[in-house]
Amino acid sequence: MKISFKTGITIIVLIAFSFSSCMVDSRSESEFFAMDTVMTITAYGDNSESSVKSAVEEINRLDSLFSVQNQNSEIYKLNINKYVHGSKETLELFNCAQMVNTMTNGAFDVTIEPLIREWGFYTGLEKQVPTQKKIETVLDSVGAEHIKIDKETIVLDKGTSVDFGGIAKGYASKRAAQIIKENGTSSALLSLGGNVRAVGKKPDGSEWSIAIANPDNNSKQAGVLNVSDTAVVTSGGYQRCFKYNGKNYHHIIDPHTGYPADSGLKSVSVVSQDDCLADALSTALFVMGLDNSAVLYTENSTLFGAVFITDENEIYVTDNLEKSFFSDYDFKVIKK
Ligand code: AMP
Ligand code: MG
Repeated sequence: MKISFKTGITIIVLIAFSFSSCMVDSRSESEFFAMDTVMTITAYGDNSESSVKSAVEEINRLDSLFSVQNQNSEIYKLNINKYVHGSKETLELFNCAQMVNTMTNGAFDVTIEPLIREWGFYTGLEKQVPTQKKIETVLDSVGAEHIKIDKETIVLDKGTSVDFGGIAKGYASKRAAQIIKENGTSSALLSLGGNVRAVGKKPDGSEWSIAIANPDNNSKQAGVLNVSDTAVVTSGGYQRCFKYNGKNYHHIIDPHTGYPADSGLKSVSVVSQDDCLADALSTALFVMGLDNSAVLYTENSTLFGAVFITDENEIYVTDNLEKSFFSDYDFKVIKK
């Protein structure tokens, strides 16, 4: 049976959890705005308050390093000068981005920046459909070959700019989770836009239940993943989009065509211990579509798992998540 979704734009991942409050002595939470989205961090037990505070500070610090629009950020300076002496964090981010670029045959590509700009997906720009000629011109400067890294020096070709919108939240959740653990807090949940990161288990010792949003209706869920100590990152065309002449255009661009990816998927959720990988892959798999993603999964099933929702509202789950995924709808399993 196929799931029937109602129309409408929806948001990100919903988080459903419950716990017995008598088992924890403290709970701290912060809701704040960073990296262009609303974020929530909730921590339980030992040092929860200082853990949340330090995690929020770290995410804000990384935002001011990676932001494509903040004139003081390292990435902004790189895009203007085409040259930067990269910080440890920026070099790590490039490293992960380049790895996923190779792994996905270019479906994930941080040199997408001029295309995102042309389509008007940055705050303050007007969303528009660029001409075919404009897209072809811009595509000349898109591609991993336009980035050169020599030790700490990052150089971009003329016309090339980078955008870490598809991976920065993953890097931020990885660092924030590390800080929380190092601070002695063993149970926390981070929700950074479409990026969820579970630290340990719930305070009662059970797994966190992370709801996968119904892409067509944010008051409903397509299913739930029961997980602990891992990242769950969702990418969907519904998260940022506009309508022009009756057609929907969204913010995940296929670097091979310059147009919003049209691969037959409404959303992809990636589960991985590595938050950066989960984030970059969720964007890449959305571009690649179900069949190519399934091939990538068979070759990398120890690195990640995924839940796909197709344009026809069919749900596909990789077999390493089969026992963790629960849904009222039928779903198909992708075997290794
Ligand atoms: P996400 O929500 O993680 O899928 O990331 C989407 C964001 O990543 C967009 O808003 C762009 O900033 C950027 N982006 C869009 N398409 C790509 C792509 N093919 N590769 C890398 N980054 C992309
Ligand atoms: Mg992503």
